[in-house]
Amino acid sequence: MDMKNYDAEEVVAVIGRDRYVREFRDVVTFEECCRACPNYGKRWGCPPFDHDTLQDLLPYEKVMIIGVKVTPHDQKMPMEQVYDLMRPELTRLNSRLLELEKEKGGLAFGFVGKCERCGKTPCARVEGRPCRHPDVVRPSLEAYGFNVSETAGKLLGIDMVWSRDLTVPKYLTLVCGLFFNGEDPNW
Ligand code: SF4
Repeated sequence: MDMKNYDAEEVVAVIGRDRYVREFRDVVTFEECCRACPNYGKRWGCPPFDHDTLQDLLPYEKVMIIGVKVTPHDQKMPMEQVYDLMRPELTRLNSRLLELEKEKGGLAFGFVGKCERCGKTPCARVEGRPCRHPDVVRPSLEAYGFNVSETAGKLLGIDMVWSRDLTVPKYLTLVCGLFFNGEDPNW
């Protein structure tokens, strides 16, 4: 029996790394937004980073951007349930990204928000220790200074919408990516 309580629509685009960095990256502005978040400096996938993050992107020629529009069946769902609603999509996208990262020798970018990998145990970063699961934890495009709202709108044709009250917006948008070289991966 299908228990899915949402519809998912996926859009994929490939763009050259130079153009993506030039037109969609603004580290100063987005680091400012990240500073306001309680996870700032407290999770390994979040800024600040100890190096110039642009250097991590330079070995790659292209980036594949994947966007998923998640429309909850219950349009009155409280915002606090959103993470549970999206978990199956987040798991599916993360596992495919890591698979492709390995296959292509690329660099994957996941999602903003709390890293749940360590459960109730506080992130190792809080104690100044390395991530316990570096094989699966990836930063988000936002954390590396990319404008995800413009990425979704201009590259994927998805206008991101936000909640105006305590219930879910009409749909939620997940955006992730993979920097890579060579032929476009088969997402
Ligand atoms: S896996 Fe654990 S240690 Fe690594 S970023 Fe997530 S919470 Fe922190």
